[in-house]
Amino acid sequence: MVVNILNIAEFKVVKFEETEHDYNIRVEMVSPPSYCHHCGCVANLLGHGSKEQVFRDIPSHDRRVTIYLKRKRYRCKDCTKTFLEPLPMLDEKRLMTRRLREYIEKESLVRTFKSLSEELGLDEKTIRNVFHEHAKWLNTHILFPTPKWLGIDEAHLLHNYRCVIANVKESTIYDILEDRKKTKVIEYLKQMPYRKDVEVACMDMWPTYRDAAILALPNARIIIDKFHVVKGASEALEEIRKKIRQSLTDKQRKTLMHDRFTLLKRRVNLSGFEQLRLESWTANYPELGAAYELKEEFYDIFDTGVDRKDALERYQAWKKQMPSSMQPYFKSLMTSMKNWETEIFNYFDTPVGTRPSNAYTEALNGLIKIVNRNGRGYSFEVLRAKLLYTEGFKEISEPMYVKDLSFCGWDEDDEDSPDPDTNLNAGYKDSRVYRRGPRVSTVCKLMEGEG
Ligand SMILES: [Zn+2]
Repeated sequence: MVVNILNIAEFKVVKFEETEHDYNIRVEMVSPPSYCHHCGCVANLLGHGSKEQVFRDIPSHDRRVTIYLKRKRYRCKDCTKTFLEPLPMLDEKRLMTRRLREYIEKESLVRTFKSLSEELGLDEKTIRNVFHEHAKWLNTHILFPTPKWLGIDEAHLLHNYRCVIANVKESTIYDILEDRKKTKVIEYLKQMPYRKDVEVACMDMWPTYRDAAILALPNARIIIDKFHVVKGASEALEEIRKKIRQSLTDKQRKTLMHDRFTLLKRRVNLSGFEQLRLESWTANYPELGAAYELKEEFYDIFDTGVDRKDALERYQAWKKQMPSSMQPYFKSLMTSMKNWETEIFNYFDTPVGTRPSNAYTEALNGLIKIVNRNGRGYSFEVLRAKLLYTEGFKEISEPMYVKDLSFCGWDEDDEDSPDPDTNLNAGYKDSRVYRRGPRVSTVCKLMEGEG
């Protein structure tokens, strides 16, 4: 008597062989089919030969598991047709158990294809094919709600600039586009469900994103992410530090390099020791001190500006009191402020404390680094699926009520379309299931662990 090590009720284990790396298990069906699979007639079947088949199963005790089955063919006496005994627990296309396919689907999102291929003794191509089929399913079945506050960022991933669409409020990834070309971004945003419900589009100073948002997100206020604005002040300070460095001795140079982070820190975050370091640098190099003050004041405008008017006035004052010696360093920042004035100061139209800001930017930058280190050899499609679907989707959102009816087939240019205003009161219920998107920080941690 051989124990049913497979724990598959339909199989009877008739032979079991164990080697260093493998379990080879020969099985038979416990019972023959009870009806014809063509005409449905009951138990009027004759044996009609058999076919040797080999299936892979999930590993057990660190061994690869192979199932051998002499699969019987039957002929129906009523309709005379033949069929192989049905094996619902197997994925016949892939010659593996369904549970192995599910295992690959799940694991391939968090592990490399290579490591799975080694563990399972399967060709890397097989793993890839299972993954792609699963990714296709996920793309059509897993939906993230359209962000009310939508973030558009770029990420240099796998040798190309990609466009990352994010949910600013949740710090989750909504989607990743293969490139950031204008036509592509516009096309994407235009097909996005509920695009007219997007209230804020938060971005960096990249004209393509602005133009795309104007065209495709008619109700969105475009805001330049604060992080991308204020970093201009840090960059100006860095330029001055680098210039001063040239006049220093080697030893001083090393210390200044070390104190780089002290200079970039906000004053409130400095330790007592760091404050002393800062004072000694600025006492010896007044230019550095002046640049540090300008940087701090510029950040302050964005931290405490009460409203657009207040922020604009403070910015004008900041510019006015800038010594002429500092102007070349802050020129680039001031040019951006001029070119993007509307979008930058849109930030202040929302009350302090509730202003949109891409808080996930830092985590996203970390993620980019990890992906470029670990993701070599992945195609964009694989990478996208890994980033979007790795975290799992336990949280299911409430059904959404549709306001943007273009998504439900309502066409504003078509007179025969139902009037959205009369139908809106009833509310169009979107019955599809939505999940929370993956949090950037969590994906970051998961990708970090992937070898
Ligand atoms: Zn039949």
